[in-house]
Amino acid sequence: MLRARYLRVALPSPLYRTFDYLPPAGVSIEQILPGARVRVPFGRQSMIGVVTENRTHTDAPAAKLRAAYELLDAEPLVGEELLYLARWAVDYYRATPGSVFETLFPVRLRRGDGIDAAALERWHLTDAGKATDPDTLSRAPRQARLLARVQKNPDGADEARLAEDSNGWRAAMQALEKKGLVIGESVTPVLPPLPGDATPAPGAAQAEAIKAVSNALGGFQAFLLEGVTGSGKTEVYLRILESVLANGAQAVVLVPEIGLTPQLVERFRRRIDVPLVVSHSGLNDTERLAAWNAMRTGEARVLIGTRSAVFVPLKDPGIFIVDEEHDASFKQQEGFRYSARDLAVVRAQRNSVPVLLGSATPSLESLANAHSRRYRHLQLPERAGNAAAPRISLLDIRGQRLTGGMSDMLLQNVRRHLDADGQVLLFLNRRGYAPRLECRECGWLAQCRRCDAYLTLHQRRAKMQCHHCGAEAGIPVACPDCGHAALERMGRGTERLEETLAEIFPDAPIARVDRDTTRRKGSLDDLLQAIRSGERRLLIGTQMLAKGHDFPNLTLVGVMNADAGLFGLDFRAAERMAQLIVQVAGRAGRAERPGEVLVQTHHPEHPLLVQLAQHGFDAFADAALRERREAGLPPYASLALLRAEAASIEAPRAFLESARNLADAQNPRGVMLLGPAPAPMERRAGRYRAQLLLKAGERAELQRLLADWVPQLESLPEARKVRWSVDVDPADLF
Ligand code: ADP
Ligand code: ZN
Ligand code: ZN
Repeated sequence: MLRARYLRVALPSPLYRTFDYLPPAGVSIEQILPGARVRVPFGRQSMIGVVTENRTHTDAPAAKLRAAYELLDAEPLVGEELLYLARWAVDYYRATPGSVFETLFPVRLRRGDGIDAAALERWHLTDAGKATDPDTLSRAPRQARLLARVQKNPDGADEARLAEDSNGWRAAMQALEKKGLVIGESVTPVLPPLPGDATPAPGAAQAEAIKAVSNALGGFQAFLLEGVTGSGKTEVYLRILESVLANGAQAVVLVPEIGLTPQLVERFRRRIDVPLVVSHSGLNDTERLAAWNAMRTGEARVLIGTRSAVFVPLKDPGIFIVDEEHDASFKQQEGFRYSARDLAVVRAQRNSVPVLLGSATPSLESLANAHSRRYRHLQLPERAGNAAAPRISLLDIRGQRLTGGMSDMLLQNVRRHLDADGQVLLFLNRRGYAPRLECRECGWLAQCRRCDAYLTLHQRRAKMQCHHCGAEAGIPVACPDCGHAALERMGRGTERLEETLAEIFPDAPIARVDRDTTRRKGSLDDLLQAIRSGERRLLIGTQMLAKGHDFPNLTLVGVMNADAGLFGLDFRAAERMAQLIVQVAGRAGRAERPGEVLVQTHHPEHPLLVQLAQHGFDAFADAALRERREAGLPPYASLALLRAEAASIEAPRAFLESARNLADAQNPRGVMLLGPAPAPMERRAGRYRAQLLLKAGERAELQRLLADWVPQLESLPEARKVRWSVDVDPADLF
């Protein structure tokens, strides 16, 4: 047998390939295992990469072959199982190996830190520290500030938070420690269980779901748990976790970006009697690494995390749960464009453990998998306890008088619910004051200079802002074209709706929840608290408010306009709209008070909307699936999108033309090529964008074409003039 001599290494380069190296001097190749990180020379730089395999031969010419500088992991930190997942993802998503293997590691490890960087430290005051007035340290202002800071934290000040505030804090802390004012201790990222919550006895449907999944532990099986908001899905997860944990195994619970609230984590901690960690973008690099490592070593048994948590190494995997599996945040939209939900299924299969996808509004993909029995379909048809499901009614606004976008009918209902002591939520998925500013005289419209888009007027901040590239400008006082002074504010965003509602209902305190009102840290929590306490009666929200929150006194939800979803440019627009309506409806009537949902539309007889209102999400989904089948769209077809962008309008098209010719020359069976065509918003942030869509009835046929085609794209001469990317199973076609 030939002996392996070369390391194949995935490096964070933008190229669709790996690189071969010789082992570092003095290290024999047997000591280097796949998954280990190595530091290697790359051009004139040094880079950190991941060994993907040890090879007996290399195509690299001997003169070019260089030795790695250094082996960073004597024992790889990620096991064969994750390497499999990464290889699978490289093949399936046609991502660069570097971008995929990099995703396996938290940032600090990518930068070359050792695993000991996962240790967290916390500082406490000594008695002397408690007694010292920081002002007496005035000659060392940094130490004074730091001491004051620790004095404000009776439970101790965490390294993580301190690092966020100031860079040079560590030296100052050491000085304080030397003076005997503070003392450091090492802490774990693990959250201990909290005093227990009462465990409700499961209802019949819950019991069936719990039993089905618990019986499947120890083998692969995918489940789709469909249950309206408040039907007790989380309760089902908790029960299943009990069985998983009783077997000594670990569990990963993936949640959407805005679904990971302190309340959710607390609920798990009250019910699950094992150490738990969380992972999300709000943690700093050290905290993330610490959580990652706690799952790797088995110190923590449950991980609740967002998208990237699907890549956390596990000592003893027991189950993967994906809550709100339809949520778009599970799909990464840049670089390595993966679906965490789909990878959870792949990983569960590889690990021979179950995967449980839960949602009140499952994706059409998952429903199709349930219908074809690839996934087992579990349903919770009713709300838990006594809560009644809200009724959805359509309000025909054709030819109606509208006040601030609201029909008289909607306004009367708002009044009625407020009078009955209920809370009212108006859902408007558009922030700012007005989406357009127009000259009445000549028709001029305020446009972004860098995008094919209008600027949104933000009245309170006195700014015009582009919601696509973030560009800002002052509010023009007169038309730049004709000089006319009266510019008209067209349409309405949440800021304007708030103004209108304050005039009509002066007695009802308003909470507006959108990205503008929640920018400051803690402001979202404050608003939610004011809503839950009943202090605010009228709520205005964008999709930020559609998910995950529980408002027991909310009795009426008004959807300002459903029409964008019916005729949206994207084939998923209707699905998104229906999910949003049902999710936001789910906020209403959760306690003993029945909820009501009113949806304003100009198309009250649109078949999809009628199905949704009269028969619920499943009926909508059946109708939408029929439309997709007829149109040959996912889940009845597989898509991939080749996107390209450049500062010139021609370059992306030229690249895509060549790419298309390459594909045509391969004479791909069963794959349709559509385009190149300009992107729906052709110019964005000063760059022109175009795309080529690939569509196949059979996933395997699409994959076969991509495997040959994508690696050739980077050697096209036109490729050098554009930024391009491949998106397999694109979430949207923009
Ligand atoms: P979902 O995750 O589907 O929104 P939850 O699990 O959060 O639903 O349940 C909604 C509410 O009903 C929670 O307050 C929960 O404690 C309660 N609940 C869940 N299951 C039961 C049950 N079997 N009996 C009584 N209350 C329940
Ligand atoms: Zn004008
Ligand atoms: Zn812009």
